Amino acid sequence: MLIDAHSHLDTLADEPVGGPVGGPVGGPSVLDRAVARARAVGVFSWVLAGTTPTRWDRTQQIAAHTGGIAVLGVHPWFAGDAPDLQTTLHDLGQRALHGIGELGLDAPSAGGDADRARQRRVLRAQLALARQRELPVVLHCVRAYPELLTLLERDGLPRAGGLIHGWSGPTDAMDRALALGLHLSFGPLICRPRAKRARTCAVRIPLDRLLIETDAPDQAPPGHERGEPAHLIEVIDTLAGLRGMDPGPLGAQATANLCRLFPGLPST
Ligand SMILES: [Zn+2]
Repeated sequence: MLIDAHSHLDTLADEPVGGPVGGPVGGPSVLDRAVARARAVGVFSWVLAGTTPTRWDRTQQIAAHTGGIAVLGVHPWFAGDAPDLQTTLHDLGQRALHGIGELGLDAPSAGGDADRARQRRVLRAQLALARQRELPVVLHCVRAYPELLTLLERDGLPRAGGLIHGWSGPTDAMDRALALGLHLSFGPLICRPRAKRARTCAVRIPLDRLLIETDAPDQAPPGHERGEPAHLIEVIDTLAGLRGMDPGPLGAQATANLCRLFPGLPST
């Protein structure tokens, strides 16, 4: 029995559970079919990451509806969506049960110095809340590894630890992340042979810090148009092949690591 460490399953069906309000795509049946396909291959739960305050209700609803857990946060793409940071953090503090995320830095999406400064401010405020509440963090990082790690080394992580999802960094950044106590989560990117940095890290990382994810629906292994949690099997098979081990124990260990980090997950 496997658990997906990072997904946005809620965006597969942008209608509230129990009835449409004019969401753009899909519907409960799209979501429910994806859930059924996941269960059929042994993927039975997931950590859904919230991205912006206007979607937190939705993420929590879908997590409850599908047997997953929600972590809530302000993604760096949406750092501008929290103009009143104080109020947003208060709301987040009231709702956060399992963790805070996703939060982080995204260099390509930062429109300029002001945007980057805003990303840093929103990140540090959420980190402080996670430390105070002793909740694990789910970190997002695109082409900003040195900056993110320096910030984490200075500010400190919550005692409950955390993970960096969709790892694609170089090995020296991995070493710094591991020294901080973080887990690293590998997704469909490693199914692409040209993803050399991510693959090198996936081979070297100690097994007890390894997590697996689909980041569905935005990420998908080659040959799939849209990601879904059932693709976790392809991520595991690729990782197992790279590490020269059987997929079964690898999936079991990664799931056990995730359950240690998020004790609220349903147990296998
Ligand atoms: Zn994500």
